[in-house]
Amino acid sequence: MNISGKRMYALLEKLNFVRLSTFEGEKKAAEILADEIREIGVEPVFESFKAPRYEIKVAKLEVTEPFYKEYEVTGYGFSGNDAADGIEAEFAYVEALEPIDLADVRGKIILLTAGIRQGDFKKLIEAGVVGVIAPSGNFRDTKETWDLDKRMLRAKHIADGRLPSVCMRMTDAMEMVVAKPEKVKITLSQYEGEADSQNIIAEIPGTEHPDEVIVYTAHYDSVVFSRGMFDNATGTATILELLRYYKANPPKRTVRFIWCGSEERGLLGSKAYLAAHEDEIDKIKLCINIDMTGPIFGRDNAVVTGAESICHIIEFLYKEIGYPMNVIQDIYSSDCIPFADKGIPAVNFMRRAAQGASQIHCRYDVIDILSAESMERTARFVALFSDRVLNAKHFPIEKQMPANIVEKINKYLGKKPQ
Ligand SMILES: [Zn+2]
Repeated sequence: MNISGKRMYALLEKLNFVRLSTFEGEKKAAEILADEIREIGVEPVFESFKAPRYEIKVAKLEVTEPFYKEYEVTGYGFSGNDAADGIEAEFAYVEALEPIDLADVRGKIILLTAGIRQGDFKKLIEAGVVGVIAPSGNFRDTKETWDLDKRMLRAKHIADGRLPSVCMRMTDAMEMVVAKPEKVKITLSQYEGEADSQNIIAEIPGTEHPDEVIVYTAHYDSVVFSRGMFDNATGTATILELLRYYKANPPKRTVRFIWCGSEERGLLGSKAYLAAHEDEIDKIKLCINIDMTGPIFGRDNAVVTGAESICHIIEFLYKEIGYPMNVIQDIYSSDCIPFADKGIPAVNFMRRAAQGASQIHCRYDVIDILSAESMERTARFVALFSDRVLNAKHFPIEKQMPANIVEKINKYLGKKPQ
């Protein structure tokens, strides 16, 4: 089986930069991938879609009374421009959003103990709050070791209105609680709009059942400050290696590879793909999603978003070859969700890092904790499973979504109970 961890690791080295949705890095990564696909001898297809994009122009937090101090803050993307000229108000520290906490916050700027969650703005606006400060990170962080979060609100957060919001370091937030400022001022102005992101697609038609399609997905974007080596340059490299393998060994059923953009903005690439290909959904029999492999220290997992019988197939295979892993039936927060939501069974292959052996969504998602050997092992298992499914006489995967999984998907996607 010509599957090479070294080749995959070399791609990680090429993608070793921040690949934020709609920004230069994501675009550059898409072009690198397209070149790799062409080199394999397949013509990539680009499909672009719109994704939200914001740019903070000014984000400022000042204590104005009874002393003056300015704190380092970042603005929440899509929290609006109501404070563009500055809002000065009384300060209150609020431990939770229970009615008792919000009894006396009218007209005030409040400091929360956690980030802004879905439904928070509704409560805060009803209580008369005029601005929000949220803490970020850990009290042990220093400027040298940790980046102050840059957070973006999604549609679900601002569905019921929004307030000018900024984010500050935990140590600074604690200092404010102790100092008890009387008045503070938030100044926040930003550009809010959208820009292009893209999926890259490559396909090898099946030799016997070209109308039966197995889709491979992996997101290639990362978040701000993160080079996204573990999450998810590894999955990106894994499905590229599988494309190479199936180009050399054409399967009976069609394989379609989708490198998804903007996963980190809310699965936007996979959602855009399904929206643009409504008419092909029937043909897609299975989604195999790879999101995070390669840690030196960890354990392989298969998360099956589909019938229990799929778990049994995987269990049989890993026992047959003596490859230790865990198999569970559950949902997995990645590009497989929009497929599963359309009734397409999904299998997520990933290697969970041991506690302390990795960190994602920050500057520490680095190549150092990953190994070519580990990536290769996982990729070989995915290929083994794929070979059996793609070349089976009778397609072995049930196209059926158990009720417990449907319920989890609906909850994850924030759908109202029927
Ligand atoms: Zn990921």
